[in-house]
Amino acid sequence: MNQLSIALKVSQLLTLEHTADLSKPHEACALLLGKKYENIYQVDEIILVSNKYASEVRFGMDENELLKIYKYAESSNISVVGIFHSHPSKPVPSETDKVFMEINPVPWIIKSTITDEMRCFIFSDVVKGNIDGIEEIKMIVVKD
Ligand SMILES: [Zn+2]
Repeated sequence: MNQLSIALKVSQLLTLEHTADLSKPHEACALLLGKKYENIYQVDEIILVSNKYASEVRFGMDENELLKIYKYAESSNISVVGIFHSHPSKPVPSETDKVFMEINPVPWIIKSTITDEMRCFIFSDVVKGNIDGIEEIKMIVVKD
């Protein structure tokens, strides 16, 4: 585990839990907007995004929806500090996730709708001894 971490509020965590439950059996997804302070990605806002594949094994975000979110983030002076999605399996990145994690090197939170665990990973090419470039990072949950 490296020293990077992502910080989110209890209410935001509950929002993610809730959207994952509501989307079952499909994978849920959301973008986390906020700011990065040194080693901490701070989540300020969660934007739920529909899964265009309505799938149990993969997720994809609609390009127009994404464009709107990125424009909104830019005008609000915040950025995408994380990507959330759920898995009806273990809360670890799939091979497909790993490809997209390299393209989007922000924290990826994955929630298992089977075990209810939530874990966070990031693509990193800077840490020694790193085999596939994916590392787990710490999730810090703070009071609202
Ligand atoms: Zn996945």
